[in-house]
Amino acid sequence: MTYANRLGQYRAFLLDIDGVLVRGGEPIPGATEAVRALQKRGQVLLLSNNSSRSRAVVAEHLGKLGFAFEPEAVVLSSYVVARYLLETEGPSKVWTIGEAGLAKELCLAGHRVVPQEEANWLVVGICWNVNYNMFAEALRFLLNGGRYIATNTDGTFPTPEGRKPGAGAIVGAIEAMGFYPHVVVGKPSEIAYRIALEQVQAKNDAVLAIGDRLETDILGAQNVKIDSVLVLTGISSKEDIERQGTRPTWIAADLPALARGELQKP
Ligand SMILES: [Mg+2]
Repeated sequence: MTYANRLGQYRAFLLDIDGVLVRGGEPIPGATEAVRALQKRGQVLLLSNNSSRSRAVVAEHLGKLGFAFEPEAVVLSSYVVARYLLETEGPSKVWTIGEAGLAKELCLAGHRVVPQEEANWLVVGICWNVNYNMFAEALRFLLNGGRYIATNTDGTFPTPEGRKPGAGAIVGAIEAMGFYPHVVVGKPSEIAYRIALEQVQAKNDAVLAIGDRLETDILGAQNVKIDSVLVLTGISSKEDIERQGTRPTWIAADLPALARGELQKP
């Protein structure tokens, strides 16, 4: 049984990217058309824990795959951490263990990316070239009283070559040295959802979060009390719902099925 008429109650959609729009770097079949169908129904924003790229770069990359999004409609953990730091601390001096997109969003928000000796904050995201020396620098910074924020704690993320270590693996290494982040801003944190929801022109009961991972996408939606759909094209399966005890409002086979209103009860 599906609940096609129920899709009509939603006026805004928060979509995860990996496992929802794309998989292994390619669009999920039918996903570009599904996004256009949802864009006719209401506002569509992307909400992703990706910290390696800037919003503009992700929007451009998705554009090449056939998805039309303005950079402002792409909410990434790189952007969320920059906004959070600005709102709570004002323009700050930061150093990063992360990629160019993280530094870009921090600069765009008005922060200064500086060498470790001058910084007040360490911001950690995914970093392709992370090495022992960086951990040693992080340890020195933290032992000297520096503060630290994590973009997300995803242990792994999907790539065309299979799963690879995520930002959570770096956070875990720092934890092994005895230090924990002041805050983690990415999903399932309320911080990521709050910043995305600020841009949504709909009441929370008309917002639907769509994701493939129970412990981030669906748990985060529950944290801010918005409805959610687990799509079965990524990490989590139907069986995981019982196993993990995180229940989405709906399940859909994939994004095209969702856009056709093929919502199922979990
Ligand atoms: Mg995902």
